[in-house]
Amino acid sequence: MLPYGRQSIDEADIAAVCEVLRGDWLTTGPAVARFERELAAWTGGVPCVSVTSGTAALHVAYAAAGIGAGDEVVTSPLTFVATAATAVLLGAKVVFADVEPGTGTLDPGAAAAAVTARTRAITAVDYAGHPADYDELRRVADGCGALLVGDAAHSIGAAYRGRAVGSVCDLTTFSFFPTKTVTTAEGGAVAVRDAELFRRAAMFRNHGLVRDQALQRDPEVGGWHQEVHAFGLNYRLPDVLCALGISQLRRLPAFMARRAELVARYTKLLGGVPGLTLPVQRDHVTPSWHLYPVRIHDGRRREVYDRMRAAGIGVQVNYIPAYWHPVFEDLGYRRGLCPEAEAYYSEQLSLPLFPDLTDGDQDRVVECLAGILSRRSAP
Ligand SMILES: *Cc1c(COP(=O)(O)O)cnc(C)c1O
Repeated sequence: MLPYGRQSIDEADIAAVCEVLRGDWLTTGPAVARFERELAAWTGGVPCVSVTSGTAALHVAYAAAGIGAGDEVVTSPLTFVATAATAVLLGAKVVFADVEPGTGTLDPGAAAAAVTARTRAITAVDYAGHPADYDELRRVADGCGALLVGDAAHSIGAAYRGRAVGSVCDLTTFSFFPTKTVTTAEGGAVAVRDAELFRRAAMFRNHGLVRDQALQRDPEVGGWHQEVHAFGLNYRLPDVLCALGISQLRRLPAFMARRAELVARYTKLLGGVPGLTLPVQRDHVTPSWHLYPVRIHDGRRREVYDRMRAAGIGVQVNYIPAYWHPVFEDLGYRRGLCPEAEAYYSEQLSLPLFPDLTDGDQDRVVECLAGILSRRSAP
């Protein structure tokens, strides 16, 4: 089965991991800070805290922002459930706002209508690798005193009006799962602009442990002494995986270029095919394409999905609206809440997109999809 996404691992990646395995530090060693420094070169210099997954990054971001019971987080439903689940786990109420039908990113008008005096964060998702409309969202966030959070699991390397993703929001989260543009197997990071929020993010990632004597309540106890002032978790990304991340970041320009080439090729080859809407790109962004999301018309998405899978092409659907998950249904969320996101989901299909996808494989995907759509479905 041709997958919809997969990692690209070369000999340099393997050598980088082996070097750490032969060394002294499997975790909490020097590769962690090195990875975080190299990541910051991609976030416009905004410092980063590495963590064990994109989900952990969201949990850390919300925890650092102090989000808890009584707070509201406004976000898009067209995302992986973790964007919302991590806020709920901290006791917040998630308020879903609808997406722009073109890009599938959070609609600033819908976000503006969803905020209240209790809104503590607005979390946009750079769906498919296309940055959300951050200047408009910033106006909404500033208007209600909320933090702007970017779930950039799809968009590392992208830019919004010439500014790197990671430098635009107060907190920006990344995922390094194998299907994402850069991988550490499992892994993630959060870029944090404010120094105090950064300190809290780094603490939460490491049990909340205070080792700096200057900050301890009982600094005279002894050299072994450490204190917890606020609860945290162990979300530390090991050196073994940070080494892979460092090596992968060196390849990010080539990954982005090949993905952009494949996206342009899909758009050219699928341009004349009926029954299909292709992804749009706004003029003011430079995407870092993670997905190639098409919309299949006439209620044929299920049929196209099944037939492409049967032909050995592992298309995917991204995403079921987050509040359709039974866990949100049980909390009282109802279908119909965000009609644009629901319409998008009902038609969406992600075609294979990853750097090692060959032109020949892509031609086979296009041929298969065009062949299905050019035949009418059975009545
Ligand atoms: C992948 C992803 C996550 C979660 O990242 P993990 O590393 O899988 O935990 C969160 N949000 C979005 C939009 C994602 O695509």
